[in-house]
Amino acid sequence: LSISCDCSIDIDYSGELVHESFPIARKKYKCCECGEVIEPGQKYNRYTGKWENEFSTFNTCMGCYRIRMQYCYYGWVFGELADQIADCLSFDYRYVPDEDE
Ligand SMILES: [Zn+2]
Ligand SMILES: [Zn+2]
Repeated sequence: LSISCDCSIDIDYSGELVHESFPIARKKYKCCECGEVIEPGQKYNRYTGKWENEFSTFNTCMGCYRIRMQYCYYGWVFGELADQIADCLSFDYRYVPDEDE
């Protein structure tokens, strides 16, 4: 079974990549996509871009980074990956089961 889907969105991408790296976290960060904590010692994706005259940096956990590269490679908006996946594949990958259930 192979599932192949491109959940990229068509955006007028005006941003410009300034620097992208995969550092090891030295303090806690929050993933811009799933909202989970990136713990010290974990590798993460750090993306700095320039949108018009504004520089912005986004920190993404490796799980979300892989989902982005696999499913949304041709067009994504930072912070909206889970929505893009939900719209296309009809599930929320951030879902966490309730312990009591
Ligand atoms: Zn899709
Ligand atoms: Zn994440």
